[in-house]
Amino acid sequence: MIETAQELLNYVGGKWQPSRSGTHQDVRNPATAATIARVPLSAKAEVDEAVRAGVAGFRQWRETPVIDRIKPLFKLRDLLIANLDEFGRTITNEAGKTYGESVAEMQRGVENVEVACGAPYMMQGSNNEDIAHGIDEHMIRQPLGVVAAITPFNFPGMIPLWFLPYAVATGNSFLLKPSEKVPMTTQLLFRLLEEAGFPAGVVGLVNGGKETVDAILDHPDVKAVSFVGSTSVAKYIYARATQNGKRAQCQGGAKNPAVIMPDADMEMSTRIMADSAFGCAGQRCLATSVAITVGDARQEFTDRMVAAAESRTVGYGLDKSTQMGPVISAESKSRIAGLIEKGVNQGARVLTGGADVDVDGFADGYFVHATLLDDVTPGSDIAKTEVFGPVLSMMHATSLDEAIQMVNDRAYGNQASIFTTSGSAARQFRHQAVAGNIGINLGVAAPMAFFPFSGWSESFFGDLHAQGAHGIEFFTQTKVVVERWPEHWSRTF
Ligand code: NAD
Repeated sequence: MIETAQELLNYVGGKWQPSRSGTHQDVRNPATAATIARVPLSAKAEVDEAVRAGVAGFRQWRETPVIDRIKPLFKLRDLLIANLDEFGRTITNEAGKTYGESVAEMQRGVENVEVACGAPYMMQGSNNEDIAHGIDEHMIRQPLGVVAAITPFNFPGMIPLWFLPYAVATGNSFLLKPSEKVPMTTQLLFRLLEEAGFPAGVVGLVNGGKETVDAILDHPDVKAVSFVGSTSVAKYIYARATQNGKRAQCQGGAKNPAVIMPDADMEMSTRIMADSAFGCAGQRCLATSVAITVGDARQEFTDRMVAAAESRTVGYGLDKSTQMGPVISAESKSRIAGLIEKGVNQGARVLTGGADVDVDGFADGYFVHATLLDDVTPGSDIAKTEVFGPVLSMMHATSLDEAIQMVNDRAYGNQASIFTTSGSAARQFRHQAVAGNIGINLGVAAPMAFFPFSGWSESFFGDLHAQGAHGIEFFTQTKVVVERWPEHWSRTF
């Protein structure tokens, strides 16, 4: 774990180097507000240097057989697992989540490395013999060149691994611009990538902010951009990258609803819902943020959720008793407090929680209580805005049809869940809910690495999603070969 406020480095052409930009930002531990590192905001010229190193690396890498390209990935997998504890501590110290949540996100990242090791099979093409007499047609997949990913603060270990393993396994060079709020996890990841033995230029790291991102979006040798973050930035990146002729897959924000039917198993449903709404302090793009109870579900669900929220221990993520860490920054905490206040001004009631939290020994931390708001009206700001904090808004419906209407009456489409013991209700919900990831008795319907992470609507801009077969397709272009050879042999024998 990096303990002092050291200056973080870029990794370019197989070498660690300081940025020459002269501009830096402090990285703070959200539990203490202490500065734990300084991240450089790299300039356009440094992006150019990293992309040129990527182009040089690509020339050899694309000529490397796929079976050899996955060998460093096998090694990376083992190194990631051997270093899970250090990842856990680093993520907790810079992102605030609990140690258990930090280790769990790395495990999801490792699974993407494991799936990408199937590239020799997954990137196979297809063919037909005799599409016309004596003519054969083949479709093969080839890499794009240098591809880049721009990632958010909330999963500093996992989200880069939604892209990197697939990109390099298919023969591309990969450049990462991590969130400037949580750049330390990436330093550790790249030390392991170096140890895993990727040739110079095949993987690169450029720290920075908007100027760095814009240099990536405008660079003619960056062929594809993967983005995960807020919707406004996702839209901006999608527009600028595609205008510059690049492929783009941009995952945005969310406002995930869950419907609780009267026949739901209430003990199980509230346990799962509390984890969904308050796990990672609500800073998951699959966090449930609106609960819609149907009919008689209201009273028991509300009572149980109040108890679950009030029993949640808030604190420093490395303390074993902590169940919920801080939110990422002072700005985030005051934005969340403002949204709660606005909700109350628009008619909601705070059943429990709020942003006034005293954690012993952590007076400066950015803590927010697990918060429940009742009587939230569908048109209010708190009902529509992504909170990205441990706040669950409650609304009530008289029927499943009405609840589904409320689910679909929103801009985002990342996830929607239903809690029920009725197969019929579950099936109707699965069919009608407008969201790309559906949870049935699940509060965080996170697709495994071998399924696409399928956000819809304002939660995704693009076509092919992250992970699995979509990753292989996104990072390759198809080439069709139609061929004929003179036939000096008899077709009848
Ligand atoms: P963010 O949009 O502020 O930042 C994401 C990345 O974009 C960072 O690397 C940042 O440096 C860069 N960036 C920020 N502003 C920019 C600008 N104006 N121009 C160019 N680049 C810019 O997001 P965040 O706060 O780090 O992450 C939280 C958001 O990410 C939430 O909205 C959450 O829902 C979303 N998220 C979505 C998914 C998903 O799969 N859909 C997954 C995780 C997080």
